[in-house]
Amino acid sequence: MDIINLTSPTQVKSWCIENGFHPNRTLGQNFLIDRNALDAIIDGAGVVAGMRVLEIGPGLGVLTQAMLERGASVVTVEKDKRLAARLHEALGAPDALEVIEADALKLDLDEFLAQGFDACVSNLPYSVGTRILLDLALHADAPAVTAVLVQREVAERFAADAGESARGQAGVWLQLDYTVRIVRHVGATCFWPRPEVGSTVVRLDKSRSQLSEIQREYFFELTRYAFMHRRKQMGASLRKATGNLERTDAELAELLCQAGIAPATRAEQISNAGWQALAQVYAVGKSEE
Ligand code: SAM
Repeated sequence: MDIINLTSPTQVKSWCIENGFHPNRTLGQNFLIDRNALDAIIDGAGVVAGMRVLEIGPGLGVLTQAMLERGASVVTVEKDKRLAARLHEALGAPDALEVIEADALKLDLDEFLAQGFDACVSNLPYSVGTRILLDLALHADAPAVTAVLVQREVAERFAADAGESARGQAGVWLQLDYTVRIVRHVGATCFWPRPEVGSTVVRLDKSRSQLSEIQREYFFELTRYAFMHRRKQMGASLRKATGNLERTDAELAELLCQAGIAPATRAEQISNAGWQALAQVYAVGKSEE
């Protein structure tokens, strides 16, 4: 199989036409064809020789090839059978490349991540990018560094601070264990086929929180509940909570006060420190399993 220049739109289009390959919208197959954007992701992750990198959705292999050229070893997970089959051959079947044909959402992450990765570097498919990233990043064995290209508004949600309009559950969850940084915006012309939205490279650096397991459970339960009712004030929404979050009005007032959260505050106004404080006070007296 010919090795094509994957940052040449002409060569990428020709390969697709010659091989009867139609990029699949549902699988988010917008291939990166811009060298500067490509370098921004790989530099953003600090990929150097000897690193072991996980890549979800290698597609035609533009990022994979560049990382192999830097001397990294790459394990790729690709859902599209045809692309997975093509990759090894197209990149010359180097020992440093492992191609897994699988749906990243269905991987057994306990087993898969136990092999140990230094970084995750991917241009994620739009439709399931957030789910793939959250599954990976929130796993205890997630790599120390993750650099991914995602839809611009998704990246802004990941990085949003308390009080910003983009603040939401995904950002709060990622910021529990990571410092999240926007690296660079990437225009739609950097992809083929051209997507309707802009993209952004975002980098996550792991700094796992000090919460205990039970406090983490409360953190996720509280934030999930509060962002489902994000228009409501915390005092009002948590009063209706059931199960593990059920408390009397007096207890709730005391817990919010101990966490330093005014009852009139809305979910998106609370900082990550505030959420962690709230999880800690909810978990007091609850036993670790
Ligand atoms: N890395 C290539 C690039 O930058 O040109 C392709 C990126 S493209 C945005 C997303 C890739 O993810 C496609 O190759 C698509 O087939 C693959 N993909 C989509 N859903 C997937 C899933 N659930 N698991 C694994 N790969 C998936």
